[in-house]
Amino acid sequence: MSSSTFPSHLVREDLRDFTGYSSARTSAPSTATPSRIWLNANESGHPSEVDPDGAARRYPDPQPPALVDALADVWATTPDRVVVGRGSDEMIELLVRALCRPGGDAIVVCPPTFGMYAVSARLHGVPVAQVPQVDDGLTWRVDTDAVAEAAVRDGARVVFLASPGNPTGAVVPLRQVADLAVRLADQAVVVVDEAYGEFCEQRSAVTLLEEHPNLVVLRTLSKAHALAGLRVGFALAHPDLATVLRRVQAPYPVPVPVARTALAALTPEALAATRRRVGETLRVRDAVGRRLRDLSGVRAVYASEANFLLLRCDDADRVLDTLTADGIVVRDVRQQPGLEDALRITIGTTLEMTALDQALGDFA
Ligand SMILES: *Cc1c(COP(=O)(O)O)cnc(C)c1O
Repeated sequence: MSSSTFPSHLVREDLRDFTGYSSARTSAPSTATPSRIWLNANESGHPSEVDPDGAARRYPDPQPPALVDALADVWATTPDRVVVGRGSDEMIELLVRALCRPGGDAIVVCPPTFGMYAVSARLHGVPVAQVPQVDDGLTWRVDTDAVAEAAVRDGARVVFLASPGNPTGAVVPLRQVADLAVRLADQAVVVVDEAYGEFCEQRSAVTLLEEHPNLVVLRTLSKAHALAGLRVGFALAHPDLATVLRRVQAPYPVPVPVARTALAALTPEALAATRRRVGETLRVRDAVGRRLRDLSGVRAVYASEANFLLLRCDDADRVLDTLTADGIVVRDVRQQPGLEDALRITIGTTLEMTALDQALGDFA
């Protein structure tokens, strides 16, 4: 249970007593007699030909309890802090929706960073304040003092920090996250997007949640857990904020087969396999990083605590052309400010990285 209260004035005033859509599952009566015949949601009385055991016959629970409990367990928190949905992308959207008045409140982002924060803000009519990260040539640093100042100056209600960052691969130290949360306690919710958390050594900001009611952590099954196509991500937040986020979420975010596979990914065996894959990815990443640093035409390869490398090239067009001619697709991030010569390369299998190495070797 939480020791501190959530500052409810951070929630959009017009949504503070909004209870959301009352769904087939949430509107079930709570009486002494257990419900046994469900005729309240216009579902079919019979299973489909393609779903013989009828698992998908009924609308799912909006927040499947078994999945929520498993997520809370694995991330060492309580179920009342978990909001699960259609990837962390949906969590970003819910945070902007619940906390920012369109045309009024802003968000703060630290470019170069993940593009969905600005996309969600734009779609919601919310201004985006930018506090560029500091590039020292080897890694990137978020200037949390400047973030705090921008949040106050621009009236921000949400600050998005990705840690490890995408595409920077750099971690924001927990000390700085905690200090920022304290400084913005009455101003904004500080969101730590840990989409790549499994790849880094720093412990999760989840460990700060009890102490900082205005802190939110985002996690996902899309990266280390190898389930991007499943679309499962979740927010870990103060219970009061979690309640608000569930209320502004579109109904039934977790389809029945999705909940089933997500649950299977959280068994001890599956988690052990994920840890082995992560270890392998880190070994391959460091080997690829060393190789890239040796290549002429590669000006810099940033330190990475994630499953990708960010590099600067003398001639990124030529590198892209060479790779494309070999059927190898990497991410062109040159449209981001400060990254006019940069590419982001995901760490794939050893075979895939050998192919990359050969293509770049031919290039050199
Ligand atoms: C990939 C990524 C996400 C998206 O995660 P989903 O759960 O697939 O929506 C979120 N944040 C960052 C920083 C990412 O790189």
